[in-house]
Amino acid sequence: MEPILELKHIHYAYHTMEGETKALSDISFSVNPGEFTVIVGPSGCGKSTLLSLISGLIRPETGSILLNGKELKESTTNIGYMLQHDHLFEWRTIYHNVLLGLEIQHTLSASTRKRANQLLETYDLSQFANAKPSELSGGMRQRAALIRTLVLEPEILLLDEPFSALDYQTRLTVSDDIGQIIRSSGRTALLVTHDLSEAVSLADRVIILSKRPATISKILPISFQLTEDTPLHRRNAPEFKTYFNSIWKEMNQNE
Ligand code: ADP
Repeated sequence: MEPILELKHIHYAYHTMEGETKALSDISFSVNPGEFTVIVGPSGCGKSTLLSLISGLIRPETGSILLNGKELKESTTNIGYMLQHDHLFEWRTIYHNVLLGLEIQHTLSASTRKRANQLLETYDLSQFANAKPSELSGGMRQRAALIRTLVLEPEILLLDEPFSALDYQTRLTVSDDIGQIIRSSGRTALLVTHDLSEAVSLADRVIILSKRPATISKILPISFQLTEDTPLHRRNAPEFKTYFNSIWKEMNQNE
């Protein structure tokens, strides 16, 4: 299988008036289509920087990023980016928030509207289509933000701590819920989190970064022997603790 994404020897530093902040050092890995990759590492190590590079918002100083075998700048691969805050516009209805990306891309048509309606239906939000974001719970808002991203049919979905603004209880349900949606839609996803339980419950592979400047300290494949491999079932499976502990140990060795 050809990887959908390849990072080769990426280095990146921020340059400010105060000087240079080295964020990433010699990062190389690849991701297969449909794979769910979770990136963990100490706070400030360079996780968001890595996603910004993959999204094309910033360029690597050295090294290359290939999407479907093409350099990032020549690639036409569609990338969706979902952030910590849902960034829904309060004055727009949920339906009009979901259509926002299509409007920006000038791809709003009868068929893309139909796709938006189907997604709202599938993910249980159609009865809130005409509601304003303030009428929805935190979890429903995050689901609406995900639908707004999915309606653009991204080949790669980047998620930067998408659940961290939610309270603990909601966060558990929403991360499981959204993890399921992404898995069932067969999307390739890269998710950044500092929550190791979230990582183990969602990932096919966990990439553990060292402290800044981030290097890859370990790539851990995750697989559960479950008839129904859902985040919730994973949390109750015996392997869960073993994976959690091995990530924890790796991160503490780096401290
Ligand atoms: P993480 O997502 O792992 O918390 P980041 O990728 O956000 O880490 O940041 C890595 C390092 O780069 C941090 O030390 C941060 O302060 C620094 N940094 C991030 N963005 C900028 C910026 N725009 N300008 C200067 N330094 C930055």
